[in-house]
Amino acid sequence: MSKNDADDLVNVLETAPVVPADVWRMLLTDLDDAGKEHITLLARKVAQSHFGTGVYVRALIEISSYCRNNCYYCGLRCSNSAASRYRLGKDDILESCRVGASLGFNTFVLQGGEDPVQSDEWLADVVSAIRAEHPGRAITLSVGERGTAAYEAFRRAGADRYLLRHETADEEHYSHLHPSSMSASGRQQCLYELKRLGYQVGSGMMVGSPGQQTAHLVEDLMFLDRLQPQMIGIGPFIPATGTPFAAEPHGSAGMTLLLISLLRIRFPSALIPATTALATLLPDGTIRGILAGANVVMPNITPAVYRNRYTIYDNKKSTGSESAEQLTLLSNDLAKIGYRIDFSRGDYETGEE
Ligand code: SAH
Repeated sequence: MSKNDADDLVNVLETAPVVPADVWRMLLTDLDDAGKEHITLLARKVAQSHFGTGVYVRALIEISSYCRNNCYYCGLRCSNSAASRYRLGKDDILESCRVGASLGFNTFVLQGGEDPVQSDEWLADVVSAIRAEHPGRAITLSVGERGTAAYEAFRRAGADRYLLRHETADEEHYSHLHPSSMSASGRQQCLYELKRLGYQVGSGMMVGSPGQQTAHLVEDLMFLDRLQPQMIGIGPFIPATGTPFAAEPHGSAGMTLLLISLLRIRFPSALIPATTALATLLPDGTIRGILAGANVVMPNITPAVYRNRYTIYDNKKSTGSESAEQLTLLSNDLAKIGYRIDFSRGDYETGEE
C-alpha cells in the first residue's frame, strides 16, 4: 500500500462515524514497513497533541492469584495446580496504597483473579477504606465479571474506573479460549453495565491468541468502536505453563504496536497503556509502546513477597526492584525519548474545547 492510500484509510479512522471492516482489515494486513512507520509517527503526533510528552502512571496492586475461572490461556486458571496462590488482606492493600501515595501515584489499580474469598462485600469495604484515606486519588478495579449489584456497590464505595478486557469480540473464538460457562456476550454485557454505572471503563483484547484470525481483530476493533471505552489495554498473548495453550506460540509484538497506533488514531483521548505483556516480549516494549501512541504505564507495587506469583503467563516482566526504583528507571527511560512521568490522576477527558 502506498503512503497516499494509507493516508486515505487514516482519514477514514479520523472522520467516519463507523469504520468499515474492510478499512480495518487493510490497515492490519496491507501496510509495508514504510507504511507502518508512517502510521506510528501519525499516532505519536495524535498522542502528543492530547497529552504532550507526559505519560500517566497507575500503581498496580495484584490482590489475588486465586480464580474460580478456567480460561484456557491464563496461568491462574483454577485447574492449574502448579500455580502459586496468594491473596492480599485488607491491611496489605491499604499499606500498598500508602506506599503508592508516598511515591506520588494518584491512581491505584486493584487487579486480581475472581477470588470467591475476596467477596463483593469485602471488596466494597476495602474500596471504602481506600476512598476514606485517599479522597482525591482514583481507584480502579479489575476483578472480572461480578454482576450489577457488585459493580453498584463498588461504585458507591468510591471506585472510579474498571478494567475488563473483552478478550475477543467473536463468540466462536471466545469459546475457543474459554470454557462454555463463559461467553463473549456475557462479558460485553458487564462492560455496558459498568459504563451505565458511570465508571470510566477499560476494555481490550489479547493479540495473537491461539486460533485468532485477522477477521477476529477486525471484530474487536469494531466492538471497541461501539463500546467507546475510555481506556484500551491490549497485549500479546504469551503462553503460560499449566494451561492448554502452554506450547502455543506467543502473539506478535509488531502487530500489538500497530494496533496501539491504530487505536490511538481512532480514539485520540483514550488512555492506552504500554502493557506488561508487551514489555515481556520486547526489552524496550514500554518505550516502543509510548512511541506508538500509548500514554499510560502501570508499575507494579504489589508487596515484593507476592510480586512474582501473579503468573498469568510465563516470564512475566517484573523488575523485582523496589517500587521507588522502578519509577526512577521509568523516568530515565522516558527522558531518553523526551517524555516524562505525569503523576496527575489522568482521568479521561474528551479533549474537546
Ligand atoms: N480476572 C481479571 C483480571 C485478569 S488478568 C479479569 O478477568 O479481568 C488481566 C488480563 O491479562 C486479562 O484480561 C487477559 O487479557 C490478560 N492475560 C491473561 N492471560 C494471558 C496470557 N497468557 N497472555 C497474555 N495476556 C494474558
